Amino acid sequence: MRSIKNILVTGGAGYIGSHTYVELKEAGYTPIILDNFSNASRGVIDRLNTLFQDKPMVIEGDIRDTSLVEKTLVEHQCDAVIHFAGFKAVGESMAKPLKYFEVNVGGSERLLSAMKNVGLRKIIFSSSATVYGDPQELPIPEAHPLTSASVYGQTKLMVEEMLRAVYAADREWSICILRYFNPVGAHLSGLIGEDPTGVPNNLMPFISQTAIGRREKLSVFGNDYDTPDGTGVRDYIHVVDLAKGHVAALDLMATPHCTPINLGTGNGISVIEMINAFEAASGKKVPYEIVDRRPGDIAACYADATRARELMDWNAERSIHDMCIDTWRWQSQNPDGYN
Ligand code: NAD
Ligand code: UDP
Repeated sequence: MRSIKNILVTGGAGYIGSHTYVELKEAGYTPIILDNFSNASRGVIDRLNTLFQDKPMVIEGDIRDTSLVEKTLVEHQCDAVIHFAGFKAVGESMAKPLKYFEVNVGGSERLLSAMKNVGLRKIIFSSSATVYGDPQELPIPEAHPLTSASVYGQTKLMVEEMLRAVYAADREWSICILRYFNPVGAHLSGLIGEDPTGVPNNLMPFISQTAIGRREKLSVFGNDYDTPDGTGVRDYIHVVDLAKGHVAALDLMATPHCTPINLGTGNGISVIEMINAFEAASGKKVPYEIVDRRPGDIAACYADATRARELMDWNAERSIHDMCIDTWRWQSQNPDGYN
């Protein structure tokens, strides 16, 4: 019998959390969602219910509420935590730094304290490739020096440091720090996907909203980078592959360790290549114009994905075409997202 079964998924109603819920269920785990719905629609829960014909277990609450988290961990006999909850908008983090420190850093500290109080020491944490800053080498290995150009990046780095300190003090913890590259795409069913509030900051939702006619045109932020076509290069990873990476990481929870692992494909794709791929997949035109570089942007960023393969036997399998097809299915079936 598997010793790890019940998984607390903080932020489980969000974009990556909801896709991970699906993969956990399919792998035979029992996920319990803890979310305060500050950046998620309750419609997600209905969709998960539709997908499985089984009502998801959802605790509506905040990761900063230590007594609620403790009670949930005990009542549901949780064996591990996957910690997605937090805020992720880089621009907003610069304008509202305290909001980000409070929820991302303070919330993670509260969660870890609650876990410690009930004797649970297994956690998978959502970090980001942003902790590599402007990369000194490509593809980026986990040993690359860490830095942060934004408050958001700083919060990820601070939680990583917190986790390393927790492990240094108590070697019974089992900690996976997953550094995501650029998650895109949606579940094959078209029932769940990315539903940003307001104007999207990220490339893929902006492209898909332009293709469906919600936005007039895409602004391409610079074509004078030192990249093959001059536009920014990123490592886009299908959110279902990313979700499966979390299921794979649960197998590393059997023994104590604290390990950072990149989740990316290892391939760099430019903005223009992504536009072309999306047009081919959707059959829609994506009007765009080249504008100035976005402040703080880097030229290129893609993962050395060797460690994930070696430690977890995990590989990203879905292509750029899959990412575009699945995004388009979600966007065209849900032109206004969950509303
Ligand atoms: P998301 O905003 O869709 O999901 C986060 C979820 O956390 C939301 O459902 C929100 O309601 C919930 N939440 C926020 N604060 C909470 C709190 N105090 N208590 C309980 N729930 C709370 O974001 P996502 O794209 O799914 O990202 C998940 C995680 O992955 C985040 O930590 C993010 O920083 C990290 N990450 C995301 C990306 C990306 O591009 N999407 C890249 C790298 C890392
Ligand atoms: N990008 C763009 N127009 C947009 C949004 C993004 O040209 O409206 C570019 C951006 O400059 C970068 C790439 O697309 O080169 C990915 O941007 P995103 O914000 O999605 O991810 P990040 O820069 O955080 O890796």
